[in-house]
This record gives sequence, C-alpha cells and structure tokens, in this order.
Amino acid sequence: MALYVYKFGGTSVGTVERIKAVAEKVKKSQDAGDQIVVVVSAMSGETNRLVGLAKEMQPQPTDRELDVLLSTGEQVTIALLSMALHNLGCEARSYTGAQVRILTDSAHTKARIREIDEANMRADLDAGRVVVVAGFQGVDEHGNITTLGRGGSDTTGVALAAALKADECHIYTDVDGVYTTDPRVVPKARRLDRITFEEMLEMASLGSKVLQIRSVEFAGKYNVKLRVLSSFMEGNGTLITYEESEMERALISGIAFNRDEAKLTLTGVPDLPGVASKILGPIAAENIEVDMIVQNISENGTTDFTFTVNRNDFTRAKNVLEGLRSELGGSTTLIGDNSIVKVSIVGVGMRSHAGIASTMFKTLADEGINIQMISTSEIKISVVVDEKYLELAVRSLHKAFGLDQD
Ligand code: ADP
Ligand code: ASP
Ligand code: MG
Repeated sequence: MALYVYKFGGTSVGTVERIKAVAEKVKKSQDAGDQIVVVVSAMSGETNRLVGLAKEMQPQPTDRELDVLLSTGEQVTIALLSMALHNLGCEARSYTGAQVRILTDSAHTKARIREIDEANMRADLDAGRVVVVAGFQGVDEHGNITTLGRGGSDTTGVALAAALKADECHIYTDVDGVYTTDPRVVPKARRLDRITFEEMLEMASLGSKVLQIRSVEFAGKYNVKLRVLSSFMEGNGTLITYEESEMERALISGIAFNRDEAKLTLTGVPDLPGVASKILGPIAAENIEVDMIVQNISENGTTDFTFTVNRNDFTRAKNVLEGLRSELGGSTTLIGDNSIVKVSIVGVGMRSHAGIASTMFKTLADEGINIQMISTSEIKISVVVDEKYLELAVRSLHKAFGLDQD
C-alpha cells in the first residue's frame, strides 16, 4: 500500500464536471489500494476574482484581510470535491489549512510553513478515508488565516507529502509535465522526462510558473519524490530528481521568462562610497525586493545605477527614488521602464561548456533584440529585453540551443 499526495491546480478543478473527474481519478487510486491525500486549488480564475473584489473595495487592503478573503477560494473546492467523492461511495473529509493545522509564520500573503500536524490526516487515512486539504493556506500561532503566495497550493502539496512521508507527490496540472519552456509560448517545446532539483529551482525562480519555487525547495530539502503530470491525459509526466547522471546531457535544459519586471535607473549619481546602500537601503526598508543591479563605471565622478524590481512594486520604488534624488545631490535624473521582461537560459550543462553566453547574445543580436541588462550564475544566464521581444527571444533561443521538437 502506497501513500500519495495528489495536488490539483485551478484548471483541473475549474468546473463541477472537472471536479467529478478528479474524484473518479482519486477513487480509482484508492480502489487500487493506495492511501490518498488530495490538495486542491481554488477553481480557475477564482483567486484573481477575489483579488479584484478586494481592489474594488480598497486600493491597499491590509494583508490580513486579503488572506481571509483569498483563502475562501480553496474552501469551496475542498467541499465540492468531498461531495463528489461521497457520490462515488468514497469516504472523504475536507479540511482547511487551519483545521489540518498547517502552522505558518505571520507574513500574510507570503507566509512560510513552519509545522504540520499530521495526526488527524493519519487517523483518517487509517480509517480508509480520503483526506481533502485546501491548498495555499495555513494559520499562524495567533490563529490568523495566512496564505502562501500565488501558486502556493504546490507548496501545500509537497509539505504534506513531506510531513506524511508519502511515497510520491503528484502535481496534476493543465500540461503533461515540465517542458523545455512554456509550451504556450513555444509550441515546439519538449516535455522533459526528468529535470534536476537545481534546474527546476532556477526555472521556477526565473519565472516558470509550473511549480511554485517553495514547493521545489521543500521537495529538495525533505527528499520528496515530486512529479508533474496532466490531469487530463495519461502519462508519466516529469520527475524532479537529484540524479543528474541518467539524464540526457543537454547544454541547456530550459528557457524561463518573467513578464513581471520593471527597471529603474538613476543617472548622474555621485560615485562615492555608500551610494549603493543610500539607494537600495530605502528600497529595502519599503520591503521591495531588488533583482538585478548594474552600476556603470564612473565618468567625471558620477555614475548610472540601474536595478530591477517586480512590476507590482514599480510605482512604489519610483516614489522612493524621487524622494532620494535631492539627497543624492549632483544632477541625478530618474528613468523608469515597466515594459521590460527577463529571459533566462538554464542548464547544469553550462558548467562544463564555454561559449554558451556568446551563442545566446549572437542569437538575440541576429534577431535585432537589444540586451539591456545581463546577469549570470553557474547554471543560468538572464537578460533583460523590451517586452515586445519576449516571444521572439524565447523562440529563437529555444531553436538555437537545439531544444525544438522535430
Ligand atoms: P495550476 O493551476 O495547475 O497550478 P499553473 O497555471 O500554475 O497551473 O501552471 C501550469 C502552467 O505553467 C502551464 O499551463 C504553462 O503555461 C506554464 N508553464 C510555464 N513554464 C512551463 C514549463 N517550463 N513547462 C510546463 N509548463 C510551463
Ligand atoms: N489559488 C492560488 C492561486 O491562484 C493558489 C494556487 O492555485 O496554487 O495562486
Ligand atoms: Mg500553479
């Protein structure tokens, strides 16, 4: 008898009919003798709808109330799925995050899981029940409802699998695995049978929304066997694994991109010790995360300083910098651009091969795409380009690195 955690995303539970199909799938596994914990997302579009309602009510609602609101989406799905299972004669019980006691910190809208009490789930499983848990939510030590950030149901799934020492965690979604890049942007993208944790972490952190990054971190840390599969078709999907050796050795495993980027530049900044911290200190104090940073060599004692932030933080970051300009002195000017994107190539094969960067840059140059910023690590190269070039950049790189399907 094996214990599985199945997580179904928004599209997979998007209608009553689809929830019924999920119930059939779960019932089939249970009939085969397995113990099943199911984690579900809100029905597709629901979380966005709730965010929209909140914004209609208040431009800046408090994060605590946002969490109370957003957590309702998943509560609907757990109840409906349990009813669908009951229809099939399957004993099932639904639980919110707080009921399972998925204890998190108090960082509303981006809480981290601290502890999971698996006793209740275990008792249900031992009594032959299917356990249905709301994804994306938890409770802090004071009893406040928290949420885990967009895409957080993936993390709930993996965290429950870790707590229960499940044999495998299956992330069922609307694609049949992890692809070399988003198959919606590159129809010639290929499904990977396996991908390493290291590469999946990079892909997730660089914008591939197929798995929330924290779910990959969790799986890596607690050795959870993690697989991404389709809710709608049969297949083995993609296994996230530590085993590098068995993999077909490609230089580049995948291409990730992030549309939620914005860039801010201060020109004519006096080139003195402490300037970077004078600029980025107040940005950090506003809780704005900075991604890439570039400072040019100085000319006449002044320099240009550029960094990127999430597009949602663009206006706030701009306001902080406006306030700083006079303090920095000189003839500092501020330029903002919120129509940029980041495109990244990822692969552990990069470690042992030179010339990857030049292939990347030449490919983009041949398409007439200007690179605005570059950053590299051992297993990735990221560039910032104008958003109008996103599709062209991803497709041409996909082809240039031999990733296209025949
Ligand atoms: P769910 O609602 O099931 O959590 P998501 O929309 O969060 O599903 O994630 C699945 C989507 O991720 C796919 O529909 C696809 O468009 C996108 N995606 C981005 N990059 C990749 C990739 N490398 N491989 C597969 N899917 C990807
Ligand atoms: N419903 C949440 C979201 O849309 C969590 C999830 O689906 O993973 O982000
Ligand atoms: Mg998701």
